Order: sequence, then C-alpha cells, then structure tokens
Amino acid sequence: MAVGKYAMSKATFYDEAKSYWEQISPTVNGMLGGYGSISNIDVKGSINFLKPMLLCEWKERVGSERALDCGAGIGRVTKHTLLPLFQTVDLVEQEQKFLDQAPAFLDEGASKIGKYICCGLQEFVPQAKHYDVIWCQWVLGHLTDKHLVDFFKRCKEGLRDGGVICVKENISKEGYVYDEQDSSVTRSSKELTKIFSKAGLTILKEETQTNFPLEIYTVKMFALR
Ligand code: SAH
Repeated sequence: MAVGKYAMSKATFYDEAKSYWEQISPTVNGMLGGYGSISNIDVKGSINFLKPMLLCEWKERVGSERALDCGAGIGRVTKHTLLPLFQTVDLVEQEQKFLDQAPAFLDEGASKIGKYICCGLQEFVPQAKHYDVIWCQWVLGHLTDKHLVDFFKRCKEGLRDGGVICVKENISKEGYVYDEQDSSVTRSSKELTKIFSKAGLTILKEETQTNFPLEIYTVKMFALR
C-alpha cells in the first residue's frame, strides 16, 4: 500500500489508528487532539459554509432533511453544526466507545438521531439516494487513497437529488505528511483535488477556515457532488 510516498502495510496503517483512538477519552478535547478550545470557531465556520447552500446559494437548493456525520466521534459536529440545520442526522464512526457516549453528549439533540452506525469508512456503504449532506471532518486522513476514492464513489450514490458531500480537513502545504501519533496522513489541496476527480466529484465551493491558531494546519472546506 502507498499512502502518498509512505509505504507500509495497510493493516498497520489502520490498526495503529484504531489503537490511537481506543485510548482517547470520549470528550470534545479528545476529538480535537487537545484543541477543544477551537470547537466554537470551527462550528461557526462550518455553519457559515453550509447555510447558504440550504437557502438559496444555487438554483437548486440543498435539502435539509437528512445529514450523515462521517467519523462522527462522540457527535461534536452533529450536535453543533448538523442538528441545528437538519431534521435527522445519522452518525458513522468506527469506535464503539465514542458512539456509546454520543446520546449523553448530544443531550436533547439525541431525539433527532436516526442511526448510530459502528463501521470504518473504508467499508461503509451509505443507503442509496438517502442524504442531503454527507459531512466528513477530520477523518479522511485515516483512509488510504484507494479507499478514499471508493468511499467517495459510494457517498455519491448515497446523495439525494441536489445533495452534497462536504469535506473539512487539514491541508498540508505540499504532498503527504504522515502523522505517527494517530497514524493518519495530511494531504495537500492538490492531492485531495486529484482524489475528488478520480471519484468523479466536482468542487462546487471551497473555503478556508479562518481564525484558527497559527500553529495548526490550514483547514479547508469543500462542497462536492
Ligand atoms: N469528526 C469528529 C471527530 C474527529 S476525531 C469531529 O470533528 O469532532 C476522528 C474520528 O474518526 C475519531 O472518532 C475516530 O475514531 C474516527 N475514525 C478514525 N478512523 C476511522 C475510520 N477508518 N472510519 C471511521 N471512523 C474513523
């Protein structure tokens, strides 16, 4: 397997990520690698990105019935970004411990959750023509390029008419940067764009998150179809 220029066994790449997340506490701080304090700014940026699409940014408005949160963790994105905008949200996450914590974390919002799905995104198949928005944040670096292309293709099938896939990820300046701690890769905009196009996706909109601390990666949001 190659993750960019990093050759390692596929099993190692996934197993080490699993071991990392297994020992992380089911809290916002755990989800954000110690950067819990940026959650509010993150949420504002995401809502400002999403909302116009649900109103009248384009001729065809994106629906607000059902969203899917991919790599949902305890449901931080679901609670603050998706539940205020969608009638129902499903969560897909590979670590059962985080899903177990989600109902308590989501509190009243838990009543609007459709399904909690425990599955790796490399294997996950969304229900066909089901979602208005499929949101992927801070998780896609855990998939190999090949798995990511295939995952996107399946997500495309999972969109209702007018639906979009949203990607919010760290962006490297160039190429691939491997993180030994959590066994993930950070891709450049150029590499991500190549993957989008291999999956047959077009970028409808692209924005850079503002007001994050200077020492962390640039974070970009993409809306794709
Ligand atoms: N998107 C959430 C959580 C980010 S932390 C947020 O922004 O708050 C990354 C999450 O991805 C963790 O919950 C981790 O368990 C999950 N994850 C890691 N590898 C995964 C994979 N292959 N498939 C699905 N989820 C994965």
